[in-house]
Amino acid sequence: MATDTLVPAPENPFAIARRQFDIAADLLDLSPNLRCILRSPQRELTVNFPVKLDDGNTRMFTGYRVQHNLSRGPVKGGIRYHPSVTLDEIRALAMLMTWKCAVTNLPYGGAKGGVIVDPRQLSAEEIERLTRRYATEISILIGPEKDIPAPDVNTNPQIMAWIMDTISMHQGYTVPAIVTGKPLNIGGSEGRNEATARGIVYVLGEATRHLGIDLSRARVAIQGCGNVGANTARMLHDLGATVVAISDSQGGVYNPRGLRPIDLLQHKRHTGTVRGYPRGESITNEELIELDCDILVPAALSQVITAANATRVRARIVAEAANGPTTPEADEILYDQGTFVLPDILANAGGVTVSYFEWVQGLQEFFWTEREVNAQLERVISHAFQSVLRVAQEREVPMRTAAYVLAVKRVADAVTTRGIYP
Ligand code: GLU
Repeated sequence: MATDTLVPAPENPFAIARRQFDIAADLLDLSPNLRCILRSPQRELTVNFPVKLDDGNTRMFTGYRVQHNLSRGPVKGGIRYHPSVTLDEIRALAMLMTWKCAVTNLPYGGAKGGVIVDPRQLSAEEIERLTRRYATEISILIGPEKDIPAPDVNTNPQIMAWIMDTISMHQGYTVPAIVTGKPLNIGGSEGRNEATARGIVYVLGEATRHLGIDLSRARVAIQGCGNVGANTARMLHDLGATVVAISDSQGGVYNPRGLRPIDLLQHKRHTGTVRGYPRGESITNEELIELDCDILVPAALSQVITAANATRVRARIVAEAANGPTTPEADEILYDQGTFVLPDILANAGGVTVSYFEWVQGLQEFFWTEREVNAQLERVISHAFQSVLRVAQEREVPMRTAAYVLAVKRVADAVTTRGIYP
């Protein structure tokens, strides 16, 4: 049986993020002063903290919170728990959040947090203690009017609840707007849990209309079966699309006649993996990238489409549900071969968009229906897609470059308008 893991490639993610920024800065003819401001994260916090383990021992953990740019408002971005977290990865992801919030025109700058940990090796109680201590350590930076965390890789609504409770205990009153992606019963938003996947579906609706592809007949391969991959599979299947492959960190399954996501997800719930699902054949994560399909959705980790495999990508559309799945070298290859790439800062912006709605609802203590949330999400994503497409057509550049041009311009304008203090 084929086995593999989603091993992150060694290229420095912050160097990649800066290269992607530089491409847009060149096209915008950005001044050297603005360039050096925007190339650097504004604030970086490293925390080393102890956590009591269930066996009575104490272990030290390292975490980060990076705020890239605060010019357009409070900063926003998720927290990830993963053994491969590095400061440079968090810097890159914070920068990406700045551009993501600017592409969608949310009144936020970008931030990101992470803890170097394999949560699968900890009990639920240990994860709770780790979360509460990490939240305490970064409490000098976060707050509803300054920096609002959310879920990311291996974090979830329960973890957001522990962060919210920890900060609220310190304050002496409940502070719902300190995080987004909370459970519904403590001030979460309808539709937030599925928002990233729903955003992918909306942006795919726009892209397929633009390219003259029938989404309801499209064949889709999805790499990753976490919140985003699983919900995207379910929603696209409900629209009539054929989900031909899906994978998780242990490998994937393929069936050219289509998988049934509900059934497959039940198999994953029982066995812990999509592997071994009987109504499909085993494939590796590498093979999934190269499958014959119309739409490829990388929804796992970064740098999975590289110069080494980009020529073998056969999908017409790549929708980047993950952050940073394509290297700049691969980007060029994909553009030259006519692959339409929906870049991460546009494609997966549904999550942060509904996070924004959750934050607004929390501050106003006035909550919307799921229908209202989804309608507003569709409006934001469709508008962002059309704005990026317009720049791509005007400048004859790939969608990623166009998204960066739009975003970097908005942030640079904010920096210029505010001026440099003092
Ligand atoms: N972690 C998600 C992202 O990368 C969501 C961030 C948020 O909602 O603040 O976009």
